[in-house]
Amino acid sequence: MTEIFTGSFTQQEPIPEAGIAAANAVMQSGRLHRYNTSGDEIAEVALLEEEFAETVGSKYCLAVASGGYAMTTALRATGVRHGDKVLTNAFTLAPVPGAIAAVGGVPVFVGVTEDLVIDLDDLSAKLDQSNVLLLSHMRGHICDMDRLMAMCDAAGVTLIEDCAHTMGAAWNGVPSGRWGRFGCYSTQTYKHINSGEGGFLICDDAEDMARAIMLSGSYMLFEKHRAAPPVETFAKIKYETPNISGRMDNLRAAILRPQLRNLAEQAKRWNARYRVLEEGLANTPGLRLIPRPEKEEFVASSFQFLLLDWSPETVQSVLDRCTARGVELKWFGGAEPKGFTSRYDSWQYAPSSRMPASDRVLAGVVDMRLPLTFSLEDCALLARIIRAEVSAVYQGDVAAE
Ligand SMILES: *Cc1c(COP(=O)(O)O)cnc(C)c1O
Repeated sequence: MTEIFTGSFTQQEPIPEAGIAAANAVMQSGRLHRYNTSGDEIAEVALLEEEFAETVGSKYCLAVASGGYAMTTALRATGVRHGDKVLTNAFTLAPVPGAIAAVGGVPVFVGVTEDLVIDLDDLSAKLDQSNVLLLSHMRGHICDMDRLMAMCDAAGVTLIEDCAHTMGAAWNGVPSGRWGRFGCYSTQTYKHINSGEGGFLICDDAEDMARAIMLSGSYMLFEKHRAAPPVETFAKIKYETPNISGRMDNLRAAILRPQLRNLAEQAKRWNARYRVLEEGLANTPGLRLIPRPEKEEFVASSFQFLLLDWSPETVQSVLDRCTARGVELKWFGGAEPKGFTSRYDSWQYAPSSRMPASDRVLAGVVDMRLPLTFSLEDCALLARIIRAEVSAVYQGDVAAE
């Protein structure tokens, strides 16, 4: 019997009842704008910022319209100007080089290792090209942060972290987003908490956060923030900083607050699913699993493996055979950028030289979403299907069928 998977890879869980009730209350009030509060009412957005700062242990937090906006704002607040080079990952998603381009910056791509993290040797060779690194913890894989920080500190390079895939994750006990000058998060539907669109920016420096708040469009109402520096910090900054609106609204904040309270619990559920897949695919000939270092505390919302040094035709054959059995895999090695899988060479506005070692890895990266609507049994079934199809193609059994 050929097993078929029938779940949807893009179906997230519903918004918790408490979030729906809070959203209804906001709508009934009509006060959706974060600064539209009555009397001494505290806006949902201000409360969410306070709660997020507490969750990750940062001094300050700003909720914004998207993860991309959070990164752009961090780059601007750091002082990146038109024409400045910014180091970033060759293996990431389009909003990351896009954020650099949005401030007129020029991405300098750093390679990826077989463990799907930034190649620290390549970074070391390129550190003298820029004084800012926008590090993307792509697909939740965290590099050796102790080594990376030592390198950046020695070279005087400022770190900004893209934590779109690492909300709730940590390296060596320090939360992702707390290593850099800024940590940036997304609350877009496919991330760890879901408001359709949205994001956060965290930092510990008062002037950095004052600039970020002014940039986000605070209309001089920064006193209504809670996870924010004291008003004196804004004395000069409020005149110097342009308003580039990208605020979060109370409706999104209302549905995010209960989800944030559940984050640690959800992380356990995600990782349980991840481990079932990992176990089911262990020792599949031709398939390389991505090691998860002991110092890395991850929050899986997707699963990757490598078909390293396979020909494009054989990888495509695996994808086709899996699709036929209901399993949607994405491939970073395809000739054309498709869905979410664009590569550094697809971003032609940001010219790059070829990185053969990274190209070899990217040509083999297979990626799968792991929504919480999948049960542990679903994950076991997914592993059985992938294992069978990878094995069939690997052993050249296709023709013999
Ligand atoms: C989703 C994502 C972002 C931010 O995305 P938005 O859609 O702008 O919220 C940033 N980096 C990575 C790697 C992402 O996947």
